[in-house]
Amino acid sequence: MDKRDYYEVLGVARGVSADELKKSYRQCALKFHPDRNPDDPDAERRFKEVSEAYEVLSDARKRELYDHYGHEGLNGQSFRPADDMFEQFQDMFADFFGGGFGGGGQRGRSAGGSRATRGRDLRANVRISLKEAVLGCKKELNVAVPKACEDCSGSGAAKGAQASTCGACRGRGQVTHGAGGFVIATTCPECAGRGSVIKNPCTGCRGRGEVREDKKIKVAIPAGIDHGQMIRLGGLGEAGGQGGPAGNLLVGVEVEEDKRFMRDGFDLVTEISVTFPEAALGTSVEVETLDDRKLSLKIPAGTQPGTIFTFASEGVPYIDSPGRGRLAVVAKVDVPKKLSSKQRKVMEELAKVLADR
Ligand SMILES: [Zn+2]
Ligand SMILES: [Zn+2]
Repeated sequence: MDKRDYYEVLGVARGVSADELKKSYRQCALKFHPDRNPDDPDAERRFKEVSEAYEVLSDARKRELYDHYGHEGLNGQSFRPADDMFEQFQDMFADFFGGGFGGGGQRGRSAGGSRATRGRDLRANVRISLKEAVLGCKKELNVAVPKACEDCSGSGAAKGAQASTCGACRGRGQVTHGAGGFVIATTCPECAGRGSVIKNPCTGCRGRGEVREDKKIKVAIPAGIDHGQMIRLGGLGEAGGQGGPAGNLLVGVEVEEDKRFMRDGFDLVTEISVTFPEAALGTSVEVETLDDRKLSLKIPAGTQPGTIFTFASEGVPYIDSPGRGRLAVVAKVDVPKKLSSKQRKVMEELAKVLADR
């Protein structure tokens, strides 16, 4: 049950640089990758553990939350789904070896076989204001969705061109590398694992067999969503191959900071300013809500700077249950930076009276 410290999981010090972190992650991920440890549930667990640790620590914002609050600080932050970690891992090795990692590679691509394959998950980001996050909104996203090239029906070959055996892997589709005392097999970068190369590639897709098509996708963003959360749109990812199911579209949500309101869990926090006499004598003020309504707030006599007044149910809607958090209003007492001569006179008078207690 107890989660291990992420830095400990990756065997690095707390102040580790991004480069060192990446290096350590590569080593750990290589060691525990399920392809190298078939039928070893412990290795699989460790692989997920290092992937999760790296996912958090490689993201500056999540790392800061983790450094300040530990695992607690990340509650409510969504992690990539477990099977997605393999993609994260492949992305990383793609730039390391110039090709995808062997395990699970070509998922979703109907490379040769006639088996139904699931389409890949796609990722997009949406940036919204705090008001949009609190009230909910609809956004239209431009997503580049891969699809089979029509010119070559996905083969990657120009009309009439023949495929020949790949020289780099001699048709095996995989090449081996030594790394950290291990020998690992990765997908051949020359032929992307097909085992064959095309001398005359299709010009429509430059031999890739697929093209990207911009699609406009409407997303309904639920009221109460927070920065760093992810919306999963089932079936809106890449189309499946041979009748397989489509992948998902994963939309990461970024919430802009607001000038007047700060979010604290499901509470909203704002400030109001009163003068020293108002705080001392008491007054009534108007507090603006995020959706531009006005609430009236009574400031009792003797209110101290920093006093917090709360309005129940004026905060952020709970995303998975009815109701909403509170609006907290922090009272600030203004100290004038400049005084007119009349104000100075009265203030000096007041200072004298206050001193005679
Ligand atoms: Zn090859
Ligand atoms: Zn093509």
